[in-house]
Amino acid sequence: MMKGKDCLIGGFQPERIIAIPKLMNLRFLFFIIYGLVPMWASAESPIVIAHRGASGYIPEHTLEAKAMAHAMGADFLEQDIVLSKDNIPVVLHDAHIDTVTDVATKFTDRKREDGRYYALDFTLSELKQLRVSERFSTKTGKPVYPKRFPGGKGQFEIVTLEEELEFIQALNQSTGREVGIYPEIKKPAWHREQGHDISPIVLSILDKFGYRTKEDACFLQCFEIAEVKRIRKELGWKGQLVMLLSGGGKGKDGTDHPHLRTKAGLKEISSIVDGIGPSIGSVIAGKTPEDRKITELVKHAHAAGLVVHPYTLRADELQGTVRSADELMDLLFREAGADGLFTDFPDVTVEWLESQ
Ligand code: CA
Repeated sequence: MMKGKDCLIGGFQPERIIAIPKLMNLRFLFFIIYGLVPMWASAESPIVIAHRGASGYIPEHTLEAKAMAHAMGADFLEQDIVLSKDNIPVVLHDAHIDTVTDVATKFTDRKREDGRYYALDFTLSELKQLRVSERFSTKTGKPVYPKRFPGGKGQFEIVTLEEELEFIQALNQSTGREVGIYPEIKKPAWHREQGHDISPIVLSILDKFGYRTKEDACFLQCFEIAEVKRIRKELGWKGQLVMLLSGGGKGKDGTDHPHLRTKAGLKEISSIVDGIGPSIGSVIAGKTPEDRKITELVKHAHAAGLVVHPYTLRADELQGTVRSADELMDLLFREAGADGLFTDFPDVTVEWLESQ
């Protein structure tokens, strides 16, 4: 598979051109070499998106997990974003914070009627008092991914979006490697029901840090079609935009995911977004390696001019359709033609692409 110049030029066979010199003069030959090689070399390589950072190794969405992903060679680092009570965007995967922090022991009386603790009920200064750990089950207290970072009940804190962007840009400067960002606006409809409008706040911070156009290394993502349209049309976001697609039915916000996964649905959104983020199961259907099948999703998305970045490679919790992470990436990149991948293990994906 293509990863940067090397493989592309590896496929270039000058002897083929030299074998037919009589048909063309030298000037034309130079045109071919200098004109076509850069064109091939500039073809896009699949991108490695560190899903919540190098979350397979260090608790998700900590700066430490982002630093590790940056060092491992990821092209983009993902941020999930929710708001605090005082409208500060913080980098957390869920609206509730009891599966990755010690909130239940520090603020016992602050849970809602459903028994859950929500970021939106805490000011930033309160959220900063919490310690972040590896994801665990609130029912059993046991880690969701048993082989991952143990404990982690003291080292890590909740990070604001601004702190994270500052950190990534500082790393870009100190390493000379330009790593992009891949922010996701979480549950905008739910935030609005709660009296908070998350998208304009996030957009203003992206603007502040220089992420504005399609040339900037940023993909903004969201699962809710109404908000995606609003971000583009009403809020005027001019950067790259990705529609996330669940592998299931309609979303709580009303997004018709099954329709958006069809050829017609993809064509409809192609004037608004630059790409889609589908579940891996929507690209490789089936339950076992024997009954798996590559769907037409990537083909249809490409026909509509959309890039495809499926989620998520978890080397320690693979889809049933594959026997190994390598097999998964072979199917996604080589057979299906995906343009990138969300991965909890950026090193595994970087190494696979480099080996191709
Ligand atoms: Ca996400």
